[in-house]
Amino acid sequence: MKTELLFPTPEALARAGELLRSGEVVGFPTETVYGLGANAMDEAAVEKIFAAKGRPGDNPLIVHIADADGLAPLIASEPDPHARALMDAFWPGPLTLIFPKSAAVPARVTAGLDTVAIRMPSHPVAQALIRAAGVPVAAPSANRSGRPSPTTAADVLEDMDGRVPMILDGGPCRVGVESTVVDLSGEAPRVLRPGGITRAQIEAVASACEIDHAVLNPLGEGERPRSPGMKYKHYAPRGEVTVFCGENTVKNIIRRYDATPNALILALEGNLPFYGKRRCISLGSDAESMAANLFHALREADRLGADVILCEGVEPVGVGLAVMNRLFRAAAFRVVE
Ligand code: AMP
Ligand code: MG
Repeated sequence: MKTELLFPTPEALARAGELLRSGEVVGFPTETVYGLGANAMDEAAVEKIFAAKGRPGDNPLIVHIADADGLAPLIASEPDPHARALMDAFWPGPLTLIFPKSAAVPARVTAGLDTVAIRMPSHPVAQALIRAAGVPVAAPSANRSGRPSPTTAADVLEDMDGRVPMILDGGPCRVGVESTVVDLSGEAPRVLRPGGITRAQIEAVASACEIDHAVLNPLGEGERPRSPGMKYKHYAPRGEVTVFCGENTVKNIIRRYDATPNALILALEGNLPFYGKRRCISLGSDAESMAANLFHALREADRLGADVILCEGVEPVGVGLAVMNRLFRAAAFRVVE
């Protein structure tokens, strides 16, 4: 299959919408990362997402809608007050909510679960694509399963060339890490996966908010995560990643770098001078820019052929929680304190 890489002109959007309606898969930008979309109501189309990504069949997809009218057909009952408050505050935006699913949503989308994950993206191209398609769009991140998520159209092409008919190029993604996934089935909202919307933002509209244990910890033997995606090796480049935290971070990274052939350092901008002439990629100046730069930096590390990637950690608060959740998985929990 030939993959077309197109800017989102009105013509390209109309064709992309047609492709989705006819059961094809399209790569497209969102404010979080690039997604790989298909008609969520078409089981055969959704199957093509799993095939293109090599995604395990028991990892459910997020369904994307353009406006509030898109919600009712997908869910079993009216959203409760917690859900309403979060939707009013953060939709459209990088927040995914888990609802009891309606019978209309194919089991393939939810990996057999009786709940469905739903998000309303704010990116104008994502919005325009869903409207052009006229159907809800099931979309995971547009990477081959296990690889870092794509935050530019070139990253998508790197993984999906020849596997999908079209990729829309909307430039680099603003947030850079995936949406915050929130489960509302308990007393308080529970973050299953941290992302662009922070715990503090959720607590500002919904009183308390819990962070699932699996967010920063490896799963125990036989433990079943509430978010099925948490059990897989994730976001990993080819090089071996180690995360460094605490006050001796720079010293420990330098010691490891100097003892390791073909290593690469991912560091905050302000720390670059400490590393001298050692090979570094900047992650920017704060947790927000780390989120925006992390996945691209991990992919860049592979393009540079680094065997060992030594990465500075960040305090796991605000968007820093999402950064550390992704980094720990990219590093398979290799952490030096
Ligand atoms: P991705 O598609 O790569 O952004 O990953 C979607 C994430 O949402 C995965 O971690 C899934 O496990 C999670 N997810 C999707 N649907 C559900 C659901 N019904 N219940 C819990 N987690 C879900
Ligand atoms: Mg993903």
